[in-house]
Amino acid sequence: MATTSKSILIKNYINGSFQNPTSNQWIDNINPSNGEVYGQIPNSNKIDVEQAYLAAKSSFPKWSQTSLEQRSKILLAIADLLESNLDLFAKAESKDNGKPLELAKTIDIPRAASNFRFFANAITQFASESHESVGHSAINYTLRQAIGVVGCISPWNLPLYLFTWKIAPAIAAGNCVVAKPSEVTPITAYLLGKICNDAGLPKGVLNIVHGLGNTTGQAIIEHPNIKAISFTGGTKTGAHIAKIAAPMFKKLSLELGGKNPNIIFADCDYEAMLNSTIRSSFANQGQICLCGSRIFVEASIYNTFKNDFIARVKQLKVGHPSEKDTNIGALVSKPHLKNVMQYIDSAKKDHNATILCGGKQVVIKNYENGYYLEPTVIEVNTNQCKINQEEIFGPVVSIMPFNNEDEVLQMANDTPYGLSATLWTNNLQRTMRFTNELQAGIVWVNTWLMRDLRTPFGGVKHSGVGREGGFEALRFFTETKNVCIKY
Ligand code: NAD
Repeated sequence: MATTSKSILIKNYINGSFQNPTSNQWIDNINPSNGEVYGQIPNSNKIDVEQAYLAAKSSFPKWSQTSLEQRSKILLAIADLLESNLDLFAKAESKDNGKPLELAKTIDIPRAASNFRFFANAITQFASESHESVGHSAINYTLRQAIGVVGCISPWNLPLYLFTWKIAPAIAAGNCVVAKPSEVTPITAYLLGKICNDAGLPKGVLNIVHGLGNTTGQAIIEHPNIKAISFTGGTKTGAHIAKIAAPMFKKLSLELGGKNPNIIFADCDYEAMLNSTIRSSFANQGQICLCGSRIFVEASIYNTFKNDFIARVKQLKVGHPSEKDTNIGALVSKPHLKNVMQYIDSAKKDHNATILCGGKQVVIKNYENGYYLEPTVIEVNTNQCKINQEEIFGPVVSIMPFNNEDEVLQMANDTPYGLSATLWTNNLQRTMRFTNELQAGIVWVNTWLMRDLRTPFGGVKHSGVGREGGFEALRFFTETKNVCIKY
């Protein structure tokens, strides 16, 4: 396969081949570690999306009639090829996104392969219900049929990982797909097209169009015959997509932003909590929707935690993504860095907030134009401040003490978001109460980001609608039809 060392012209993947955008409009692709343009991607328009749709349509329903064994075999081959090209994909992801290469190698790309392997197996186990109407001589059975052509739109923070989290269940269930990765991180999606061809995925089953949200993305969500949209991204974009898609009665899955609480009680296993809290605060430069950006600590251990946490944060190395000892790489783009720094500046002016460490841009020798930022810890004295209410999505967390269960539960739930929550305690009664009362789609107790792909994934309130993962995803990507037979 092609290497990613020189300037790359990314093309759309339509009907199994690579095509220029019809309008010949291109967008620069920037390397966040040094701020340099290192390639171009198409800014696809309605015509390109229509071509992708027609390719997908021409493969449906044929693909949905392909045996489960055959579909499974192709998905497994894609997983294998991703694994055998791990280095190529990891380097490409790290360069495109700014994340440490080690993270791309150990998390992003292996997880993308797992997504295909998981749904290759899951589809062979996907069953539907039957209901015997006893006393009425009738039997009902439920079909779960592929929808047709579906749209998958993903963000930049975990580029291939989240792109494949949608594509794998969509095609496993027999749909044909028009997919768009983030314009900020297009490269691994581009490489995926080549892998799909090598794995024997029939032409047109997966089509990947590149471009901006308001051109390419908009054309996908507006398309009258793309019948379902699976979207991961910001809450504002999710609301916009819902507004366009709802009057057309499209099926919608929306995985949106978060402002997740990390609640620490004095009775927790302190070292395990401290290690995980460093990760849950700053992994992937804090650019994971599940990061615990609001840390609440029981008052009796607050000062100890504050000192230990800050000492550990100061040890984190901000560096070039390809260096082995880098803990924190570059933020994804210049506008995003600016946005995160504006939050830090606003905290400096807010009498409710004090910067305890970090807060400054980092200039790295030989990479002076890269988008590096110190990991930042802000002490707040109320949950009702901008830092605690708005998603920052960078290496920035707040810390604040609490006195009792009721107080912290109220604060944990007091944001517009409801994606995930983390609880550190060894008290069973408290665990049961919090897991019941926390307003979140995912609650971790004494761990963080432990994922079993069979479990439902998604948020409540402004964090989204619907669930991904396991059979939930296969249900989303199928239409339910009940058949009643009287005998
Ligand atoms: P974004 O909403 O700006 O973009 C996401 C995708 O939507 C991109 O591909 C973009 O091009 C596309 N898009 C933008 N406007 C569109 C439009 N009008 N029509 C169709 N598509 C459009 O989000 P982002 O900045 O790429 O990602 C960061 C956000 O994603 C954060 O809010 C983060 O919390 C969220 N996120 C959520 C989850 C989750 O599972 N809940 C996971 C990862 C990221």
